[in-house]
Amino acid sequence: MSTSTADAARLPLMLTDLRLPTIKRLWTDIAAQSDREAWRAERLLSVLFEHEMAEREARRLARHRAESGLPPDKSLDSFDFAAVPTVSRPHVAALVEGDAWLEQGANLLLFGPPGVGKTHLIAAIGHGLIDRGWRVLFTRTGDLVQRLQAARRDLRLPAELARLDRFDLLILDDFSYVRRDQAESSVLFELISERYERKSIALTANQPFSAWDQVFPEAAMTVAAVDRLVHHSTIFEMNVESYRRKTAATDTSPRTRTKVSKRK
Ligand code: ADP
Ligand code: MG
Repeated sequence: MSTSTADAARLPLMLTDLRLPTIKRLWTDIAAQSDREAWRAERLLSVLFEHEMAEREARRLARHRAESGLPPDKSLDSFDFAAVPTVSRPHVAALVEGDAWLEQGANLLLFGPPGVGKTHLIAAIGHGLIDRGWRVLFTRTGDLVQRLQAARRDLRLPAELARLDRFDLLILDDFSYVRRDQAESSVLFELISERYERKSIALTANQPFSAWDQVFPEAAMTVAAVDRLVHHSTIFEMNVESYRRKTAATDTSPRTRTKVSKRK
């Protein structure tokens, strides 16, 4: 066996050992091109490593997107900013591109009645942040509260909070959806305190702060939670007509028309 045949036989094993799957997949083609075009060794090496790094980054983003729990189909491209005059596209783009607020653990709070696009907008921002390398977790507030309560019962609350710490942004959808009892609001309060000035929270809420005494049973806890959330925050007030209702009313597609006429 010639030296080069022996090398070619050993390479796949070494590349597996070194966990370089992309180079392992591509090296024969790229090496052939390199031989044909008489590349210098440094050119060949950097082309191989560039491929490995690009795929590694793509896999990392895919993993982050999968773990995020974000609704997959909500993007900034499909968000109609004209429908929400209080929220500007440049402001949202600045949040997606500006890293300072996440580094400081600042918060993002979206208020408005049902159907105005709060979940869509925050999910789209979440996707944009993942594209830029941040880690994001999207969850309905009620689901997270149940998980934290279960963790507290099993004396695992600190571990569960530490697990959430991996995420640069925690999105709590429908924060004020239900009235919470003492135990529920206390885990939520603990979460807010734990992340305060360290890790960002984004939330959507149907109720303005003035109605949050319905969310937390204790006035003192409400004040303390609101204080921490608002201290470093961007607030979007989305008090517009429900997008869902508006589009249902103006949609003249045949399917909708059929549905409407059937209802008569
Ligand atoms: P909310 O969370 O405020 O109740 P959603 O984000 O769930 O509202 O929006 C309801 C539906 O309307 C979703 O399908 C969403 O994609 C769509 N929608 C709402 N606002 C907009 C908008 N400004 N542009 C595009 N789609 C929108
Ligand atoms: Mg919503």
